[in-house]
Amino acid sequence: MSEFRPETRAVHPPQPAVEGSRPISVPIYQTSGFVFEDPAVMAASMGRPDGAYVYGRYTNPTVRSLELAVSGLEGGAGAVATGSGMGAINTVLLGLLKPGDHIVAQRSLYGGTAAMLNELTGRFGITVTYVPENDPGALRAAVRPETRLVHLETISNPMTLVADLPGMCAVARELGVLSVVDNTFATAMLCRPIEHGADIVVHSTTKYLSGHTDVVGGLAVFADAALYEKVWHFSVELGASADPFAAWLTLRGLQTLGLRMERHCSNAHHLAVRLAEHPAVTAVHWPGLASHPSYELAGKLLPGFGGVFAFDLAGGRAAGEKFMSSVRLALLAPSLGGVETLILHPASTSHRSLGPEELARSGIGEGTVRIAAGIEHPDDLWSDISQALP
Ligand SMILES: *Cc1c(COP(=O)(O)O)cnc(C)c1O
Repeated sequence: MSEFRPETRAVHPPQPAVEGSRPISVPIYQTSGFVFEDPAVMAASMGRPDGAYVYGRYTNPTVRSLELAVSGLEGGAGAVATGSGMGAINTVLLGLLKPGDHIVAQRSLYGGTAAMLNELTGRFGITVTYVPENDPGALRAAVRPETRLVHLETISNPMTLVADLPGMCAVARELGVLSVVDNTFATAMLCRPIEHGADIVVHSTTKYLSGHTDVVGGLAVFADAALYEKVWHFSVELGASADPFAAWLTLRGLQTLGLRMERHCSNAHHLAVRLAEHPAVTAVHWPGLASHPSYELAGKLLPGFGGVFAFDLAGGRAAGEKFMSSVRLALLAPSLGGVETLILHPASTSHRSLGPEELARSGIGEGTVRIAAGIEHPDDLWSDISQALP
């Protein structure tokens, strides 16, 4: 390089090769593309998920490390990391569906997914039938010759309904329909849907997988290698790929997922039990409580019941608003799954697009508050929450 002028040398900094040792943590490969010495290797690597790294939209070593890590945890044959959870869901839906296809989805769906299904219905000629998350008979009755996939969520938001994954996935498999499971709320620490027959697992890695409220990302894991390759090709065309820095932050968070999930679950338990005994609270929705409709199923399916729960205040909207402006430690904010405890009023935020009838059917009232328990000390959380209650 010394034969070149400074302007040219500045463009081509030397890159030390790492030999004889390797970095302990996964490095960030913050590059949009890769240099080839052999044109034949470059040609052979185009359009393949298993060739040499070519271009950042296809994948990147840091992103691939995250894909392999989560695919391994979920028991998949491959994964595609994306720029958001909705990016993962859309990569799967748009990669597999065509006009005229039919989807069966569970009734209690994440808001963004519900909006996307409406979009597919209104503009792409795809039809959707909604069934309860725990009714394989209703799924069987809903499937038609043009049904392509069933979309489920391990634990729903915010009423924490648990899907009957073994029952629903078995019917889907028997009828030749792909099952897609959003495992964001449970993570592979509590549930691995592929073990229950799911074909595809999607995640918003924004939540528990990254865990520190500092990154937006998503990921789709495929049980079958051929399905992975098909959707990988589509993902390259769609361009919803993950950024290396976002993947690096997610990998860093993922290392403590096991510890964090234990604490999220035990904190949720601590708070749910106390709230259930409080006179200002009419109901607590957490599958670890015997009063919850999913209690029995959750006990069979999950070793822990998650860090998110909802509760209803007797005083309705006014009481909800008062509560939310009275907490000092818990933060009023969207999202969940991070180390900080967050609270939210679903009726005016995440579920604002639902009409009064749909809201009532989903069990969300004006006085419903969602709590995403963080990893703080449980006694500090309870003193904050109890001082904010009427
Ligand atoms: C947040 C979330 C999504 C969407 O993920 P983004 O990263 O916000 O795009 C999808 N499903 C569930 C269950 C979620 O909680």
